[in-house]
Amino acid sequence: MPWQARSRRRAELPPNWAAIRTMVLDRDRHTCRIARADRCTHLATQVDHVGDRHDHTTANLRAACAPCHAWRTALQGNAARPRRTRPIEQHPGLITKPL
Ligand SMILES: [Zn+2]
Repeated sequence: MPWQARSRRRAELPPNWAAIRTMVLDRDRHTCRIARADRCTHLATQVDHVGDRHDHTTANLRAACAPCHAWRTALQGNAARPRRTRPIEQHPGLITKPL
């Protein structure tokens, strides 16, 4: 399933997003600014929010290639996922009573 079908992200972006996106990609000369581990040589075709995902000012945006952007988005998704909280149980094999 493509991300557009599941994600509401496009609806959250401002109506002039295409113009903002072009401006950021031109400013960063289509060079990936995420560049994980400085190894990225891909052409940047996407725009990443550095901080707040609802702040669409150019100061909060940077050019990103698709692989680095997907990697960073996955990291943020995992960080935002609620942690499972399960009560700590005693190991069933642990002997607590004297024999
Ligand atoms: Zn990259």
